[in-house]
Amino acid sequence: MTVYNFCAGPAMLPKEVMQKVQSELLDWQNTGCSVMEMSHRSPEFIEVYEQAVAGLKSLMKIPDDYSVLFMQGGGRGQFSSVPLNLKKNGKAHYVTTGLWSEDAVVEGNKFLTVEEQDCRVVVNGKTSILPLAEWNVSEESDFIHYCLNETVDGIEIFESANQLLVTRDVPRVIDMSSNILSRVIDVTDYDLIYAGAQKNIGPSGMAIVIINNALLNRSSESVPTFLNYAITKAKDSMYNTPPTFAIYLSKLVFDWLQKNGGVEAIEQKNRDKAAILYQAIDNSELYENRVAEQNRSLMNVTFYLKDESLNQCFIDEAKANGIVAIEGHRSVGGMRASIYNAMPIEGVKALVEFMKTFELKHK
Ligand code: PMP
Repeated sequence: MTVYNFCAGPAMLPKEVMQKVQSELLDWQNTGCSVMEMSHRSPEFIEVYEQAVAGLKSLMKIPDDYSVLFMQGGGRGQFSSVPLNLKKNGKAHYVTTGLWSEDAVVEGNKFLTVEEQDCRVVVNGKTSILPLAEWNVSEESDFIHYCLNETVDGIEIFESANQLLVTRDVPRVIDMSSNILSRVIDVTDYDLIYAGAQKNIGPSGMAIVIINNALLNRSSESVPTFLNYAITKAKDSMYNTPPTFAIYLSKLVFDWLQKNGGVEAIEQKNRDKAAILYQAIDNSELYENRVAEQNRSLMNVTFYLKDESLNQCFIDEAKANGIVAIEGHRSVGGMRASIYNAMPIEGVKALVEFMKTFELKHK
């Protein structure tokens, strides 16, 4: 039986990439060693690192006045790094749209005063996000922080930061942990983009930071060294021994994306996959999605069974049919299908088929 893994993260990675990793795990490029066993300072590994940086720059069209950093501590590490490095006057604007942006507020408050704006609007049981032009960000803010895709809630923001009315003097920081590389964005609309790697990039534990170089001079000496952006940049992400295997795997994922047409091509596939699933939910009498159409996530499709007593049965039967990790996050319940870049359309079709069969059976 083919198994499709809908886990929100760590999530499935492209099969082709995993097969390549497997084939060269014990003897990498005829060195007689695994890439995991090589010095991060060896010319061989430096080449991998440089190719990974170049790969991401090319995929996301990152201009030269931005840097790519590989950092440790995943997405949450950045909840601390961002305020620690970017703090100036001591106040920052944080927009909340779901669980992850709320958690960023809790961490941010440890280092500065967070001015929180909850931008969720609920009408007829459907949540949408206030248009960016209605976010009231003070010009005095050290930065604005928000989450482009709320992994738990299945809420995504598609508007560009250029819709914000605040000037570019307030740096724009976004968490793209669960939608980086899933669709085209203009990097220059933002000043700092970060993402935990374990959804669209590679193994967990690592974060990718894309930072406007103009912000690097904000990192003061008091910032813990391994979280310091300026030092990370100066040391080519090797102040401490970097997660070499994760960087190697990321490079392979970037190669895979490039080979398959880059971000433009994967965006079309992602839109097609999400459309199939949302349509199946909207056309059914058993399932419902609670996000307004303009904010429905392309990556994390959340849905509820109108008869919640069927939840466990749905999860069990799904698993028996090769649909695994479909349960929603414990904080919101229901179901969640995470359909990141690596999920083939066949997986989404298999899920939809299962959902239809399940609905008929339990009518
Ligand atoms: N932000 C978002 C949007 C996430 O989805 C996650 C993890 N699911 C995090 C932050 C936290 O990442 P980590 O667990 O790597 O710290």
